[in-house]
Amino acid sequence: MVDLGSVAERLDKNHYETDEKQSHIEVNQDLVRTTGAGPLLVRICAAHVYSLHDDGTIGVLYAACLECGTCLAVAPPGALTWHYPRSGMGVTYREG
Ligand code: SF4
Repeated sequence: MVDLGSVAERLDKNHYETDEKQSHIEVNQDLVRTTGAGPLLVRICAAHVYSLHDDGTIGVLYAACLECGTCLAVAPPGALTWHYPRSGMGVTYREG
């Protein structure tokens, strides 16, 4: 059987051009906190973009985003504002 490496090892082969001036993910923290959506977002993201704070809000490490759109699909309406990174930025896949 071929050893493909761990998910983390494979993700590490991607290239990321980070937009230092603008996040492509914005969070309505009040809505996330009141709906309790934080744990779901943390669990659903394969790239570990989201982290849960003690007060129910979430941190966003947008530079690691794989642009899969899953978080937007599962988040309560209005909780996230998401768009692709500006032209030429974001993830470039190197493997699978
Ligand atoms: Fe994570 Fe995908 Fe959402 Fe990016 S688009 S934050 S990789 S779930």
